[in-house]
Amino acid sequence: PESGTSPTSSSSQKAPYLNPKLPVERRVGDLLGRMTLQEKAGQMTQAERAAVDEDQSKITSLGLGSLLSGGGSAPTPNAPEAWADMFDGYQKHALATRLHIPLLYGTDSVHGHGNLVGATVFPHNIALGAARDPALVRETAHITATETRATGPQWAFAPCLCVARDDRWGRTYESFGEDPKLVTEMETAIDGLQGTDPKDLARRDRVLASAKHYAGDGDTTYGTSTTGTYKIDQGVTITGREHFWKTDLAPYIPAVRQHRVGSIMPSYSSVDWTEDGVGNPVKMHANKELLTDVLKQKIGFQGFLISDWEAIHQIPGDYATQVRTAVNAGVDMFMEPYSAPKFVQTLIAEVQAGRVPMSRIDDAVRRILHAKFQLGLFEHPYSDRTNIDTIGSPVHRAVARRAVAQSQVLLKNAHHALPLRPSQRIYVAGTNAHDLGNQAGGWTVTWQGQSGNTAFPGTTILQGIKQNASNVTYSKDASAPTGGHDVGIVVVGETPYAEGIGDVGNNGRTLNLSDADRANVARVCGAIKTCVVLDVAGRPQIVTDELPKTDAFVMSWLPGSEGEGVADVLFGKRPFTGKLPVTWPRSEAQEPINVGDKNYDPLFPYGYGLTTRAGGALR
Ligand code: BGC
Repeated sequence: PESGTSPTSSSSQKAPYLNPKLPVERRVGDLLGRMTLQEKAGQMTQAERAAVDEDQSKITSLGLGSLLSGGGSAPTPNAPEAWADMFDGYQKHALATRLHIPLLYGTDSVHGHGNLVGATVFPHNIALGAARDPALVRETAHITATETRATGPQWAFAPCLCVARDDRWGRTYESFGEDPKLVTEMETAIDGLQGTDPKDLARRDRVLASAKHYAGDGDTTYGTSTTGTYKIDQGVTITGREHFWKTDLAPYIPAVRQHRVGSIMPSYSSVDWTEDGVGNPVKMHANKELLTDVLKQKIGFQGFLISDWEAIHQIPGDYATQVRTAVNAGVDMFMEPYSAPKFVQTLIAEVQAGRVPMSRIDDAVRRILHAKFQLGLFEHPYSDRTNIDTIGSPVHRAVARRAVAQSQVLLKNAHHALPLRPSQRIYVAGTNAHDLGNQAGGWTVTWQGQSGNTAFPGTTILQGIKQNASNVTYSKDASAPTGGHDVGIVVVGETPYAEGIGDVGNNGRTLNLSDADRANVARVCGAIKTCVVLDVAGRPQIVTDELPKTDAFVMSWLPGSEGEGVADVLFGKRPFTGKLPVTWPRSEAQEPINVGDKNYDPLFPYGYGLTTRAGGALR
C-alpha cells in the first residue's frame, strides 16, 4: 500500500514500534507494516554525508536510512564535540520523517575512529595479527567503538576479515594475516565493537560491526590467467569451492553462525569457480549463490548486507539492471554515496514493475530495522557524549602503546644489538623515523593517509627513542653518521596509501625499498658498528640485500600514533614477542608466497619472530 499508517493514526496511544518494552521482532513487524514502498526504499539507502550537506532536508525528503563518512569524504570537523554536533544535525532531519526512523551512521573506524582528528590511532590489523593476542584485539576494538559512538556514529565498517594471500595487494595491512586460522582468531574484533550480548549494542560504548569484504577480497589473482589480465585489488578470486570455504569464507563462519555480527559488506571482487580461470567471474554484489544461498541460508546470517561504495555500478548492465541484480542477489542496504535519489527512484520502479519482489524488500528492511532497534536508536537517536572525554585519553593511548609493543617482530638480532641501553650514543635516521603520518598509514584522518601529517596527537619513533636515551642524534637523510656513535638506527618503510595499490601497473609501487631507504641503510650501517633497521610498512618489503648489513632488523608495521610502543621493546621495557602474520618473501617474484607452493623458500617463514626478555620496568 502506498499510504502508510502513521504512528498515532489508529489511536492516541504510542504505536507498538515506539514501545521499548516490546520484543524487537514485534517492533520491527509493527513498523514495517506502517511503511510505504517509498519509505522502505529510503531505509535501504545510504548516502555520503558530504552529498547531503548543502541541503540536509534531503535526509527527510528521501527518508534516508543511513549516512556515512566514507574514505573519500570531505574533511570532517576536527573536534569530537563538533563531530557530535554534525551527527546530531543529520539525525534531526531523519527524525523529521513521518515515522521518525532514526539514521544509522557508518564510518571507517578500522584502526580507531580514524575519521576524527584526536582519536586514538591503533596499529593496523596486520600488526595486531603479529601480536597474536585475541583479547588485545577485542580491547582495541572496544576502545574504537567507545570513541566512535561518543561522537554519534553507531556503526563501524570493520573488521576486515580478509585473508591476504599476496602482499602486492594494497589492502594487505587491513588484514590480520595470510592464514585463515589466524584471521578467525582475530575476529574477536567483532565482539570488541558490538559486545557479546545482543543487548550490548544499545550501550554507549558499542557500535554495529561490519565484517568485510565478503569474501575472497584478499585472495584475488594478480597478473594473467588463461582469460586475461587481472587487477589484484577488486579483482577476481579464481578458486575451487573447497579452497574458498576453507580460506576465504572460514573467518566469517563462527561469528555468523553464532549471530555475533550485525552487518557484512560484500567485496568489490568477483569469483570464478573454474580454478584455471576460464569461467565467467561473477561480481560479489551480483552473486546470489554466495550472498543469499550460502551466507544467509546455509550459514545463517541474520544481519544485513551493506554494499561497498558504488560497488553495484560495476555490475554489467544499465543502472536499473545493477540495482535489480544486487537487491535480488541479497544486498540489503546500498552505499550509493552520490546517487541516493536516483537509487531510491530506480528501486521503487523495479518493484513496481514486478522485477524485484516485495518480499525481498520487506526482508531487507526487516534486517535493517532490526539493527536499529537493537542499537536502541529509537530511544536514543542523538549522540551520547558521556564518553567523549575518553577520546584520545591517556588510558586509551596506553592500550595502543601496548598493542604497538606486542606487534613488533624481531627478525634478526646479532651481537645482542637489542635491547638498546639508555647510556648508548644513538644515531637515528630514515624516512619513517619521525613521521606520524607514515606511522599511521591509510585510513587516518583522510582516506589515503598523508606523510608528514601532524594533525593528530601521538609520538614518533624518534620521540620514543629520545624519551629513553639522552644522547640521540637525528638526521632524516642520514647525513654524516660517524663511528662515534654506539648504535645507528635506520627507520625505512612505506608512505601511506589505501586500496588500489598493487593493481596491474602497480601505480609506481613495489615491495622494494625506496632508493632513499637503501642509501640510508648503506650509509649508516657502513659507518656505525652496530646497526639496527626498523621497517614501518603495511607489508613485508624486499630487504634481502640490506639484511646482511644490519645487526638487528625489526618489523614495526604501521604502528599508528604511539611510537613509544616501539621504543618500549627497543629498550627492553617490554619483550619482543610478535610473530609474522604473513610470509616474508626474498623477492617480489616469489609473490604470491605460501599459497600452496612446494618451493616455499622465503626470507622468513610465516610465524617467524625472535623473542627477548623484558629488561627494565616500564615507567
Ligand atoms: C572500501 C570499504 C569502505 C568504504 C567506505 C570502500 O572503498 O572498500 O572498505 O568501508 O569504501 O569508505
